Amino acid sequence: MEEKLQRLYFECLEELEKIGIIIKNNEEIGQIDISISKRNNKRYGACRQEEPDKTTKYTEVVNGHRYIRYAKYKKHMIEVSPWVMEMDDKIIKNTIMHELIHCMPYCNNHGNFFKAYAKNINKNLGYDVSRVGNKEEDYKKSGKEYKEQKIYNYKIICEGCGQVIYRQRYNKDFTKKYRCGKCGGKFKAYKIIYKTK
Ligand SMILES: [Zn+2]
Ligand SMILES: [Zn+2]
Repeated sequence: MEEKLQRLYFECLEELEKIGIIIKNNEEIGQIDISISKRNNKRYGACRQEEPDKTTKYTEVVNGHRYIRYAKYKKHMIEVSPWVMEMDDKIIKNTIMHELIHCMPYCNNHGNFFKAYAKNINKNLGYDVSRVGNKEEDYKKSGKEYKEQKIYNYKIICEGCGQVIYRQRYNKDFTKKYRCGKCGGKFKAYKIIYKTK
């Protein structure tokens, strides 16, 4: 899978070169690493930046908050979600293109610079880069059944036989009202805590 990602990544770089966007050995952009994300994320991909070029510092005001931003970074780490790797090559490459734009100066958001690159790439290379993808449609295009991953918040265990049931929502009456279908035992509910970074 990593090999496939590298191959598609280089195809993207070559296509970009055809329309005059040079990424390889470009000092303005710096170093780019691409890999498959270790965890399954809902999003298609992500691009983390490191080593900001301090001379390109600026402040951005969003909803009254001031944020320090940098227009250029020297290191970019692109991650593609594992589920994307099961899609058609075109969709994988679309994700790579999206994240590659984030590596360009002034593009570490979905602002006007990002939009201009996306427009150019879509028009001249036949991509469909947007702010967010349409997961359901992409699954269909790849001939795959679309199933949104459910997030379960409760784990309900039968104290008799150990049967486990997962629920997104949970009503306190559940453990009072219902008994295990297998053994007639009582249920006990546990809240599942998801660790976020
Ligand atoms: Zn993005
Ligand atoms: Zn049971």
